[in-house]
Amino acid sequence: MAHQICNAERIILIILSSFETNPVSTLRTGSNSPYVLVCDHASWQVPSGLKDLGVTKSDLKRHIGWDIGALGVARKLSNILKAPLIWQNYSRLVIDCNRVLDHSGLIAVESDATIIPGNMNITKDGIHRRIREIYQPYHLAIKKLLDSRESRGVPTIVVSIHSFTPIFLGIKRACELGVLFGSDSRYARRFIESAKANFDFVVMANEPYRVDKKDATIPMHAINRGNLNVLLEIRQDLITSNAQQQLWGNTLAAVLEDATSQLLRSQYI
Ligand SMILES: [Zn+2]
Repeated sequence: MAHQICNAERIILIILSSFETNPVSTLRTGSNSPYVLVCDHASWQVPSGLKDLGVTKSDLKRHIGWDIGALGVARKLSNILKAPLIWQNYSRLVIDCNRVLDHSGLIAVESDATIIPGNMNITKDGIHRRIREIYQPYHLAIKKLLDSRESRGVPTIVVSIHSFTPIFLGIKRACELGVLFGSDSRYARRFIESAKANFDFVVMANEPYRVDKKDATIPMHAINRGNLNVLLEIRQDLITSNAQQQLWGNTLAAVLEDATSQLLRSQYI
């Protein structure tokens, strides 16, 4: 009897059973390309035990559940640049892997005026399980890759790929590409200069967001380690189709390569 209770508890306590998707996926982690691509909000999926968090599938597939098109662009970039890519396979509504652990948005109870019932009244245990089973494996995978590159003396530019909704709380956004940075703007400034010089899309610095103390990925894996970095926010209506994602992949790859060569050149002048 005690054994049965123990098993029942185990079923309740584990979010990700063996048949669920691994929380993290990777591509080309053995590559020595200078770019390490990461995609925090790649998927709208929810582990089956969490019953879609009480949110409709159509809401999960809206921008509140994931960064529409971002993984598609990241995969194209990885292919063009032959660069490593690491991404997260569950919705940011389960746990937002780009929030520090003590931020209120880590497990949001509301997003863009939509209530997330499965996150209301979540217990401490429930929070810890999502951290342990989804958040930590993702950041550990990035850390392990960066540690390995560091030990091999491979220089790294962390490129974080996101997308943003064209209309937020009823307001239309003009920005097409947001180039975000925090306290280390060395690479992002070069990227903006190169994008403005070579392309005519609307590129803005630190729009519609900025990297600050709420963010986890860029501070943890780039700023704190001294790695060059940039966070790219692409407007979602520009990257919904495969062809658009390929076009943006080509464009961003060209800007990244130009910004990198500009930066290298400046070090010798
Ligand atoms: Zn995002």
